Amino acid sequence: NALPNANYIRDRIRTVADWPQAGVMFRDITPLLQDKKTFRLLVDIFVHRYMDQKLDVVAGIDARGFILGAVVAYELNLGFVPIRKKGKLPFDTIAEEYELEYGSATVELHADACQAGDRVLLIDDLVATGGTMIAAANLLKRLGAEVVEAAAIVDLPELGGSKLVRDQHIELFTVCD
Ligand code: AMP
Repeated sequence: NALPNANYIRDRIRTVADWPQAGVMFRDITPLLQDKKTFRLLVDIFVHRYMDQKLDVVAGIDARGFILGAVVAYELNLGFVPIRKKGKLPFDTIAEEYELEYGSATVELHADACQAGDRVLLIDDLVATGGTMIAAANLLKRLGAEVVEAAAIVDLPELGGSKLVRDQHIELFTVCD
């Protein structure tokens, strides 16, 4: 990866085998968040990337996308909107269902979370199969917003999700794999 600090970030992500179920290599970002230097490095990578992008709002995906997304939004002087798992948002919502390996999942967004024409930065922690990021981007597009870029800390390219995201003409930035 061409990013100068990608190795510091990668070194603070812990891989936990067979969690939450057998066969999954879970990428645990809690050590990265816990360390004050790597947390700041991480936030700064995103702030520098987007500070001149004339964005209107940052959308973060439930739940780890909230941690990074809210801090990046604050630093960019922008508001933050949550994209949540089904049943968590109290007001009028729109929903997108997507397929998982076994079964399906649904993400929701408040119908007034952004305006037509808004330039939105979409943030999550990780791209695996890409289903979550694509569904979240679709929610924003349905409100007429422009997803300027989807961004995550980690890409798992062997799962093919980042390619699927880009095949949907969604710009995608990730720090490391
Ligand atoms: P996907 O929709 O398959 O791209 O999955 C991405 C979402 O699931 C993100 O919100 C991640 O937090 C979570 N996720 C999927 N796989 C992993 C993994 N191996 N390690 C950590 N989080 C994961």
